Amino acid sequence: MDFLLNNEQKDIIKAAREFALGEFPDRAQEFDREETFDQDIWRNACDLGFVGVFIPEEYDGMGYGFFEHCLITEEFWAVDPGIAQAIISCTFGSELLLLFGSDDQKASILPGLVSGEGLISTAITEPDAGSDVTSAATTAIREGDHWIINGAKMFATNGNLADHVIVFCLTDPDNPSRHQRHSFILVPSDTPGFGSSKIRGKMGIRASDTAELSFSDVRVPLQNLVGEEGNGFDELMAFFNRTRLHVSAQAVGLARAALDESVAHTKKRHQFGAPLASFQVTQFKLAEMATWIRAARNLYYEAVWSVDNGKIDHALIAMAKWFSAQMAVRCADEALQMHGGYGYIDEYRVQRLYRDAKILEIYEGTREMEKAIVAKSILG
Ligand SMILES: Cc1cc2nc3c(=O)[nH]c(=O)nc-3n(C[C@H](O)[C@H](O)[C@H](O)COP(=O)(O)OP(=O)(O)OC[C@H]3O[C@@H](n4cnc5c(N)ncnc54)[C@H](O)[C@@H]3O)c2cc1C
Repeated sequence: MDFLLNNEQKDIIKAAREFALGEFPDRAQEFDREETFDQDIWRNACDLGFVGVFIPEEYDGMGYGFFEHCLITEEFWAVDPGIAQAIISCTFGSELLLLFGSDDQKASILPGLVSGEGLISTAITEPDAGSDVTSAATTAIREGDHWIINGAKMFATNGNLADHVIVFCLTDPDNPSRHQRHSFILVPSDTPGFGSSKIRGKMGIRASDTAELSFSDVRVPLQNLVGEEGNGFDELMAFFNRTRLHVSAQAVGLARAALDESVAHTKKRHQFGAPLASFQVTQFKLAEMATWIRAARNLYYEAVWSVDNGKIDHALIAMAKWFSAQMAVRCADEALQMHGGYGYIDEYRVQRLYRDAKILEIYEGTREMEKAIVAKSILG
């Protein structure tokens, strides 16, 4: 594995950072407070080619690897996680289409995700099925040439905005294997019987839309099956192999922001007649943060490299996901601590970073689920 970034990748990082610094800081606090987002920022990001860079050129993407997608994500999250997530999550689900979608599905949906004319959401979690995805109970029953879908989904990112939702459905409830009962089905959000409502009051990433979805006799053609019938669980695991690394990139970006804020504040703030940065306790905190960030980045770089080169290693991906998420939560905590009472006020960016960080240990598989994967790889 070559850790050196090539010139093109360095240019991508530079351009992503410049874009984020130009567009995010002025609006970040407003979007966080109002739980809203100005979609023009997302469209600008699309116009400049930052969205869906891993989508092949035949579908109007850049044809880069998932690595380049992660580089952009890291830079965006290093400026503002909420806005970053509102933009970057607009392709959340395209990984499934790329891996398992039909040519028609790819051709009709992927170009719109790149241009900013379309938006996708992926709905797996349910009120009674979170970490245990095999207990998902939203049913899809064949009736003639159609699937009839009934059920409810929780926490679907962009569920109120998407024009297509990829839904994890129970299609073979009597199959003796819990891992062969589900399938992914594509649902256009203007299909009668589909409903969505915004979940308010999130702790962090409040610019990003999160929805509760309902399906009441939603009727879609059989061709809307994504991948193979009954193979949904395995397809979901393949999807997570990409998206979990995306979360690692988010975590590294957020932790960098926490470190930057800490360095700036501790150099400026004086107590006991000296800058906070002159105290060894502060220096050790900064040194630890910098080291954790480096370690997490190396871990996710290695894991993304393995995915882009077809050498999937589930345990490595799970390690990268939980380690970087926990690292980001710790860095945000230390950053707030170094800001004292000021860090507790929402006028200070570290308060937002602290709140934004926690989701990293929850979505795309909780910290505990990732550790369970690692443990299984050790114990067999
Ligand atoms: C902002 C946000 C965005 C999201 N976006 C999406 C999305 O786009 N699409 C989607 O489908 N979902 C999405 N989710 C849902 C997210 O993936 C789930 O919340 C997550 O998988 C955990 O499921 P749960 O909330 O039901 O918690 P639970 O599964 O109920 O877990 C609760 C706690 O119990 C622990 N636990 C559970 N089982 C075990 C066990 N066997 N051993 C030890 N500990 C265990 C968990 O680790 C966790 O700490 C989102 C959630 C949020 C908050």
